Amino acid sequence: MQQMPLDEDLYCLLGVDSCASADEIRRAYRKLAMIWHPDRNESADAEETFKRIRLAYEVLREPERRTEYDHNFTSQAHRADNAHAQQAAAAQPDASARRAPNLSRHVSISLEEQVHGCRAKLRLTRTEYCRQCGGSGHANLPPIACGTCRGSGSMRSPLGLFSFFRAAAVACADCDGTGTIRPTCEACEGTGLSARKTGYLKFEVPAGIRPGASLRVRGHGRRARTGEAPGDLLVHVGVAPHPLFEADFPDLRCEIPLSVFRALAGGSLEVPTLGDPVSVPLPSEPIDGAELRIAGQGMLDGGSGLRGDLLVRVRLVRPQQLTDAQLALLAELDKLAANDPVHIDWLRRRHDAERQKSRPDGRPG
Ligand SMILES: [Zn+2]
Ligand SMILES: [Zn+2]
Repeated sequence: MQQMPLDEDLYCLLGVDSCASADEIRRAYRKLAMIWHPDRNESADAEETFKRIRLAYEVLREPERRTEYDHNFTSQAHRADNAHAQQAAAAQPDASARRAPNLSRHVSISLEEQVHGCRAKLRLTRTEYCRQCGGSGHANLPPIACGTCRGSGSMRSPLGLFSFFRAAAVACADCDGTGTIRPTCEACEGTGLSARKTGYLKFEVPAGIRPGASLRVRGHGRRARTGEAPGDLLVHVGVAPHPLFEADFPDLRCEIPLSVFRALAGGSLEVPTLGDPVSVPLPSEPIDGAELRIAGQGMLDGGSGLRGDLLVRVRLVRPQQLTDAQLALLAELDKLAANDPVHIDWLRRRHDAERQKSRPDGRPG
């Protein structure tokens, strides 16, 4: 089963009330499918919109899936409201008012922006609703007689199987059995939609945001129809990959290669940070994979107001192939190492062993 996006309101997508009958849902779907079918509609997002409409219909047409969706969507919307502590506006919309669907988008920030906060910009393309009818698709005129049933409200079923029951009359699907319909809005040909507009939205990303968290920008979701409150924009904030650091909120991880010669030489190691580089002493005997912790050089945790740590893993690198110059220098170093007490002791024991060999009885002298 395909998953619908978390914040997609399937009813709004089909333009029906959440208490719409199966008939209303079917008719709304057919109307939209006619408009958005990629064979008929040449706009760039026709296929995507058509898929979403079809998926919404597939869920809402089946009573079991519809009930499950109703339950999940309500609790998700509730959870989302609780989860988004950092909100762009304090005003709480009236829960009883109908709301236009939310939109969700993704924005990527750098690690530096995570620490200092930034002003992000998003390109938004949104459908505007028809101004003439406020998105309803109906003209503001009195109802007229339904053409399908000629105002009677009922029809004989034209389907082969049902024609067996010749007397059976069914309610007209076009007027829901009322015999009247509301005239179609001419400006939008009944779709309730007008042009799509593209604009830029700028908003603050607070310092210390947790990567993967969402920001809610109130009132910047899908456009509202008449009588609706606008939806919200949910911005999913991700951290862009960094050439040196890996995010492990609130810590940062970094791996620094260190040549075996440099490791032997010891001293201090220059470590890059999000700010200026810092110098840290190398452990007396650096081992491959040793971890150095540099406090307070990680990401900012907006919750505590403190910065995490930078964890540096030292990767010892030995040369794949030694050059002649390196071999010569190593030979030089080896000669100097001959003064090492361990080495001197070893040479003395070798000497003793040779002397023992030269005695015929093999007893120490
Ligand atoms: Zn209209
Ligand atoms: Zn009718």
